[in-house]
Amino acid sequence: MQLRARGVSDARLLSAIERVPRRLFLAARQHVLAYVDTQLPIECGQSISAPSTIATMLEHLKVGARDSVLEIGTGSGYQAALLSHLAARVVTLERYRTLVELARQRLATLRMDSVQVELADGLLGWAKEAPFGRIIVTGSVEAIPEALKAQLDPDGGVLIAPVGVPGQPQKLTRVVRSGDDFAQTEVAPVRFVPMVAGIAARL
Ligand code: SAH
Repeated sequence: MQLRARGVSDARLLSAIERVPRRLFLAARQHVLAYVDTQLPIECGQSISAPSTIATMLEHLKVGARDSVLEIGTGSGYQAALLSHLAARVVTLERYRTLVELARQRLATLRMDSVQVELADGLLGWAKEAPFGRIIVTGSVEAIPEALKAQLDPDGGVLIAPVGVPGQPQKLTRVVRSGDDFAQTEVAPVRFVPMVAGIAARL
């Protein structure tokens, strides 16, 4: 209801949000805040975005029931769980082994078999299962990585990413691919933690 009041109107998205218990993606001490519209800390010093931020990203991604989606930055796995209700298949990449394992456990508990969680540097994408109809980047980048553009479906693939300099407000940017043409538009101001290259050496 809070998201509806904030202008989120996509019925499939609202239904996915209703069906995924956000609490299951948080440590016990955060459970009282699970349904407050706020960003919260998770393991490995990372965070789970506010539901309204996730809703904005997913509304602009316009995921169809037959799409295959690549998510960069699994974090808690919450957004991947939402995507599993919206898409046919989801591959999600995370640079912290601990987060990969936790997300796999949570998604298995919910029997979300259409989500594949991989330990990988997401800035390089997941070439072995490309192309993807939709790609979503959940941390900021200074420019859209060429590797991700190359893995976008040439026939109308959509990528969404926060673009800008770390520490400054960024522009949520939407890229629509048509063959060799990549049409880029800025859709909303956002503030995300930057993506970091490479797999984490610890945790
Ligand atoms: N979508 C998440 C929130 C993501 S926060 C959720 O629903 O909880 C951003 C995540 O991106 C963090 O977990 C961070 O570790 C991860 N990340 C940062 N750089 C990355 C990279 N190069 N490859 C893969 N994951 C990365």
